[in-house]
Amino acid sequence: ATLGPTVTVGEILVEIMATTVGPGFLAAQPLTGPYPSGAPAIFIDQCGRMGCPSAMIGAVGSDDFGRVNLNRLQRDGVDISAVAIDPAFPTGSAFVRYRDDGTRDFVFNIATSAAARFGWTDRVQHLIASAGHLHVMGSALTMPSACEVIDQAVGIVKARGGSLSVDPNLRKELQLAPQIEARFARLVAQADLLLPSGDELERAAGIDGEAAAVARLLGMGVEEIVLKRGAQGATCFGRDGSRVDAAPFRVSEIDPTGAGDCFGGAYVASRRLGLPVEQALTYACAAGARNVTFRGPMEGAGTRAELDGFNASTPRGF
Ligand code: ATP
Ligand code: MG
Repeated sequence: ATLGPTVTVGEILVEIMATTVGPGFLAAQPLTGPYPSGAPAIFIDQCGRMGCPSAMIGAVGSDDFGRVNLNRLQRDGVDISAVAIDPAFPTGSAFVRYRDDGTRDFVFNIATSAAARFGWTDRVQHLIASAGHLHVMGSALTMPSACEVIDQAVGIVKARGGSLSVDPNLRKELQLAPQIEARFARLVAQADLLLPSGDELERAAGIDGEAAAVARLLGMGVEEIVLKRGAQGATCFGRDGSRVDAAPFRVSEIDPTGAGDCFGGAYVASRRLGLPVEQALTYACAAGARNVTFRGPMEGAGTRAELDGFNASTPRGF
């Protein structure tokens, strides 16, 4: 890609899943994992698999959960030179169990793990000095260490003509502290590409209604808004007034975790590789849909050839 790699910043985790459906972890039960995870890590892994030069800033512990992540990212072509290995804190983790109604119970260890303990180092400086694109997940803003890196990185990447994408990735229930909400708003205003899902669009715009929210964000200078609609597909709204609706692939969902992140990784990679919006949306919808057919947050991230094969063999339509 022009200018240098696509870089993301944030939490690197393992996910450990209950293999049965039910409420939480109050009794001994079968588990599976560790699976490499963390929204930014899933995003960048999909980006790397698409063949886009990609790199990650974050941290893992000096343990097998860290190695599971580093091995996966490296296998998939992601530059991990700016992933720190914390000697004292363990790799972040998320234990997840689905309930009968499809909602989830979590036990997280993020804030007190290596995942949240990184900062601006020489390696980060070196990477950002050559980055062509920065992708930020709203969820990373809950970590002060990530905020510090993101603040500096946005300025440097934009000053050298690079671009910024933002996936709000903020669950409705997640209330941000006022200064973090303000930071999120500033980031949205600087974004070239926004990748919201559901009501994140209205939250990012600060106004109700899809059309009003899109108009306000485009008016603020955002070039492209790609709205993720789950099993209904996705829509790209361009600053030039264009609108492209992408039909969903018809799949049976096994594990919804990571769909939005794979979608984003494939979309950003496609655009960075110079593909037009329509084709980028096809890769993105294929990446999201393919990933939900695999158990594990990034197990279904596809290479470009795998996504082409998926596209050719999977029914698609509204
Ligand atoms: P996440 O749950 O990972 O945060 P998200 O809410 O950010 O995801 P979704 O809209 O759920 O994003 O999924 C992203 C994209 O993946 C969708 O726009 C769609 O293209 C594809 N996708 C997700 N789930 C399905 C599904 N069940 N069937 C077909 N396509 C899907
Ligand atoms: Mg999401």
